[in-house]
Amino acid sequence: MTEIIKVCKRHGELKREDVIKQGKNKINEARFKCKSCMKEIHHANYEKNKDKIYVRTRKWKKDNAERLNELRLKYYWQYKEKDHEKKIERDRKYHNKSSMELNDVYVKHVITKRTNLKYSDIPDELVKLKRSLLEAQRKIRQNLMVNKGKKLNENKKC
Ligand SMILES: [Zn+2]
Repeated sequence: MTEIIKVCKRHGELKREDVIKQGKNKINEARFKCKSCMKEIHHANYEKNKDKIYVRTRKWKKDNAERLNELRLKYYWQYKEKDHEKKIERDRKYHNKSSMELNDVYVKHVITKRTNLKYSDIPDELVKLKRSLLEAQRKIRQNLMVNKGKKLNENKKC
């Protein structure tokens, strides 16, 4: 498990998590570099060229203000979209079982959603009513889906 991949002159024996894979050597073996050393090198380089990097970055930003704005917006929406999808997926996984069964907890969850009611506030009668309502809605939605599917198939034939 804790295999030694490389020995660094400064940092000693290195395991997989202490190294960075970088290219291959002449006999086609993966080459590894010490993560700590690499970090130091990068840091030193950055320190050395800090002013240059700063000026260059600022110039690039200035020259590309419009593009940068676009990129920012793009990433923002991409992130939002992804985040939204993830949330839906999470909710689906979490609710799928209970929502299919329409068990008491799920029905109470639907009733109390976006209210300040507690599950214990909901009488059994209301749970029963809400459950039939949800079942009815579900049936309607399923029928709509089936009809939609039929229509799509019909359209395909044309
Ligand atoms: Zn090292």
